[in-house]
Amino acid sequence: MPDVAKTDAKTPCEKCHGTMKLVKIEPLFVEPDMMQHTFVCENCSHQAAFKFGKGLLG
Ligand SMILES: [Zn+2]
Repeated sequence: MPDVAKTDAKTPCEKCHGTMKLVKIEPLFVEPDMMQHTFVCENCSHQAAFKFGKGLLG
């Protein structure tokens, strides 16, 4: 997982450094305390998934 600052809704693209938008949030069955956030880049359509702890979202 890249160590970059990001919000829940946007994150920098690792391929083209464009803006990736949040398109999907889904639970992780293997990690009940985590939610997987799927992002898609507006520029190059690269997809990436990041896990966030539910506790961090309040
Ligand atoms: Zn990109």
